[in-house]
Amino acid sequence: GLGGSEDKPEDMVSRPPVVTVMGHVDHGKTSLLDALRATDVVAGEAGGITQHIGAYQVQMASGDKITFIDTPGHEAFTAMRSRGAKVTDIVVLVVAADDGIMPQTVEAIRHARAAEVPVVVAINKMDKPGADPNRVRQELLNHELVVEEMGGDVLTVEVSAKQRLNLEKLEEAILLQAEIQDLKANPEREAEGTVIEAKMEKGRGSVATVLIRRGTLKVGDIFVAGTEWGRVRAMIDDRGNRIEEAGPAYPVEILGFQGTPQAGDDFVVVDDEAKAREVAGYRQRKEREALAVKSARGTMEQMFAKIKAGEAKELPVVIKADVQGSVEAIVGTLEKMATEEVKVRVLHSAVGGINESDITLAKASEALVIGFNVRANPQARELSRRDGVEIRYYSIIYDVAEDIKRALTGLLEPTFREKFIGYAEIRQVYNITRVGKVAGCMVTEGIIKRGCKVRLLRDNVVIHEGDLGQLKRFKDDVREVREGFECGMSFANYDDIKEGDLIECFEMEEIAAEL
Ligand code: GDP
Repeated sequence: GLGGSEDKPEDMVSRPPVVTVMGHVDHGKTSLLDALRATDVVAGEAGGITQHIGAYQVQMASGDKITFIDTPGHEAFTAMRSRGAKVTDIVVLVVAADDGIMPQTVEAIRHARAAEVPVVVAINKMDKPGADPNRVRQELLNHELVVEEMGGDVLTVEVSAKQRLNLEKLEEAILLQAEIQDLKANPEREAEGTVIEAKMEKGRGSVATVLIRRGTLKVGDIFVAGTEWGRVRAMIDDRGNRIEEAGPAYPVEILGFQGTPQAGDDFVVVDDEAKAREVAGYRQRKEREALAVKSARGTMEQMFAKIKAGEAKELPVVIKADVQGSVEAIVGTLEKMATEEVKVRVLHSAVGGINESDITLAKASEALVIGFNVRANPQARELSRRDGVEIRYYSIIYDVAEDIKRALTGLLEPTFREKFIGYAEIRQVYNITRVGKVAGCMVTEGIIKRGCKVRLLRDNVVIHEGDLGQLKRFKDDVREVREGFECGMSFANYDDIKEGDLIECFEMEEIAAEL
């Protein structure tokens, strides 16, 4: 059940460690993951048909197993951690022997330390003439990683991903590190785990890879994952086999989701469908509430103040929406809303993006502009900033009503507001194996930051709202990209992108409560 009952010590069985590979760009993370995968004795028997599902398991000749997360780099690792998921037991830090510690190596060390995950160092590219493993060991010392050779407890293994050298030695080091942690799980219970990858696929629906943490997942099980639920229709492992059961540390691709969950979501098997619907529904409402309160301290704040002081008799609004049906629904909803003192007055409502004349009108009447699935054009944005006219964007009618109700009663003030940070234009769309669609972009205004929220606009109409996946300049993951620079972006669980689409980036910032 949900909430997770405790396991008895006698039910605990050793489980394979889960490993994430991190390190500086080009030091060989991808090559090493490919090389390690090839050491699997089981895939070898089956003819080596492998599937990319976001993680894979290797079985060694000794029978020992290791699970590798197949997305190198600390982006995925951090994204999962920020959602509260701890899937990694050990970090393999890849350092090229001919290059040494580089900026992203240091970042990876920091991420591993923040997550309190032990590090095993793979000194890679030992086949190269300039390889100097002792320099690497020396440099690690500067970052508080004291290697075994210098009396510390950090294991290093000299490898070559290219020549497939010492891979078993690296696996043994991982297992040794795992032994210290005494990793165990109870396989005899309802499954719990973490979503490590999820996407919509044509003809298959939502598919997600789940890494089981404890228990055993079976076909037919009913589950909740984040705000979504489903019933396991089929399971496919990383070797392409359809399987009936998956135990601890086993990564499986699952079919049967009702919606698409997110990487890092908790996955829990529940007793029945009613329970699954109830939990998912509750979480969806919670999430909506958190997102609904998108406010700024402009027009709205002044209105709050006036309404509280009993000075305002009406709340004027200008409404722009994507389709006539939405315009009518919002006008209908808002015109009915009134308290004894205050009512909503719709000054203007129409289909289409927000333009300068909407802002001028709102300015004159101190009105709030509501954009429902539409955005302001650049001129209107500029004008609204200059004139202090507030524009509020929505995508759910319920949210519009809730926000306006708050304004009318002057009671509940928002605790989060949306902060615009930048725009980027998609100049080209690339299809990249393992990654999916990547947008080649130009930042046209402000700044794009790693981890920000995004909206995709096509002709000023919102077609998607979600999270930024990766942010890259050339091959490098970067923290931010400024106006006038090009970058590559991907979007979490979303890839319907086109040349000419506009990406709006924003952050949610907390507003200090005023009591
Ligand atoms: P990543 O950016 O860390 O994932 O690095 P890649 O796996 O893409 O490797 C970057 C480059 O280094 C590629 O050209 C690889 O062929 C090369 N490379 C990776 N491992 C080795 C190795 O062990 N020896 C040599 N000589 N080259 C390697």
